[in-house]
Amino acid sequence: MAELRRWMTWFALGMLAVPAAVAQQRRATTKGPELDPQIAAAVKEVSPARVKASIEKLVSFHNRSTLAAADAASIARGRGIGAAREWVRSEFERYSRDCDGCLKVEMQSFTVNPPARRIPKPTEIVNVMATLEGTDPANAGRMYIVSGHYDSRNSDNDNVTDAAPGANDDASGTAVALECARVLSKHKFPATIVFIAFAGEEQGLYGSARYAEAAKAAKLDIEGVLNNDIVGGNRTPGDKTQQPQWVRVFSEGVPSAATPEQIKLIRATGMEDDSPSRQLARYIRDVAQQYVPGFEPKLVSRPDRYLRGGDHMSFNEQGFAALRLTEYREDYNHQHQNPRIERGVEYGDLPKFVDFAYVANVARLNAATLASLASAPAPPANVRLPTRNLENDSTLTWSASPGSLATKYEVLWRPTTDSDWPPQNVEAVGNVTQATLKRSKDNVIFGVRAVDSKGHRSVAVIPLPER
Ligand SMILES: [Zn+2]
Repeated sequence: MAELRRWMTWFALGMLAVPAAVAQQRRATTKGPELDPQIAAAVKEVSPARVKASIEKLVSFHNRSTLAAADAASIARGRGIGAAREWVRSEFERYSRDCDGCLKVEMQSFTVNPPARRIPKPTEIVNVMATLEGTDPANAGRMYIVSGHYDSRNSDNDNVTDAAPGANDDASGTAVALECARVLSKHKFPATIVFIAFAGEEQGLYGSARYAEAAKAAKLDIEGVLNNDIVGGNRTPGDKTQQPQWVRVFSEGVPSAATPEQIKLIRATGMEDDSPSRQLARYIRDVAQQYVPGFEPKLVSRPDRYLRGGDHMSFNEQGFAALRLTEYREDYNHQHQNPRIERGVEYGDLPKFVDFAYVANVARLNAATLASLASAPAPPANVRLPTRNLENDSTLTWSASPGSLATKYEVLWRPTTDSDWPPQNVEAVGNVTQATLKRSKDNVIFGVRAVDSKGHRSVAVIPLPER
């Protein structure tokens, strides 16, 4: 039941996803959300030049396969996965020095022994992470994660000697996590933000799987994961099909971790389009309209592309809300390929095919989303929809938002056939823990969210039916 409640708290995160003009109108009627100057400042700080420098540095390690060299001599020569992770760590530590030690930098290390998929020899896998602890003790337990994977591969999984530049897959995502750490560490947020570079992704999500399993075992309150993988905005010369104003956001529908009882509830209440991950995707779209106008998340209602997977799925499998950001159109000649020219076609995942301005926009979107989530109050707790009587009104009850940041609450609703929350369907109900609406619960999906004195909104919570 605890799992179910955790899951339900995420149901209505996407309440804010509305066209800009309508959002403006709603702001006028509900007093918020205004732009937060701190979030706007962090977004403005994102630098395409810094993103470019990070990607080129990662490529300089020649081959970042998780199976590649990690011995001291190779690290000293700047070659292999070991040198790459030492550099990522040194970057996090450098940002931390600039904020009086505000980042806690850690390595999570473990060894995988054969037999294991695509791992032919005992291999150490190391995740590199930095934590910006929330400043409010009552809210610091809430965690939001941004990730990329710093390992790479070429045409052959076992080839650790030829170049595996991985500029797009996934130095781009690693650069996004680094840039978010750099710009957000200059600010303070009530809740906690974690920046992670995973390893072992190309062999089968080894690094993220271990992290997510440990997080679940430790009962960490991870409320959202933004995984960035192939966000380079590939720009092959002559290609006219890339859309540099769009980034795809993949999210699961029915949660991977749902129990048979939870699936039964989803079926009974018509919540197939309301997973926690789907709500996070909708939230991102609203943040884009607020803070990165002109850059549009294109939501895709499936966990990932055909034949592919990513580190967000490790979190989904442990019951956490997580999604994947990927460029609009991929060029498979520039992924998982030995750099070479064949019949006039250039292969290889090289920096010259990366659009650094595009990666910077993805970083802006991530930074604004993380900052919005970490600034907002915790969602209201114990949200319920009493269903004891046959009636045409609907009453919702809840407990105050844990952490005491909330100063009022809003009830939202949408037709069961709509994927988005209509912007006009919001009622501010004050600083209360119960509301009755002249609207039948049989016809709509309800949500309740907490709002603070500055207009930061929590994720909304879909009520559990209560008999
Ligand atoms: Zn990848």
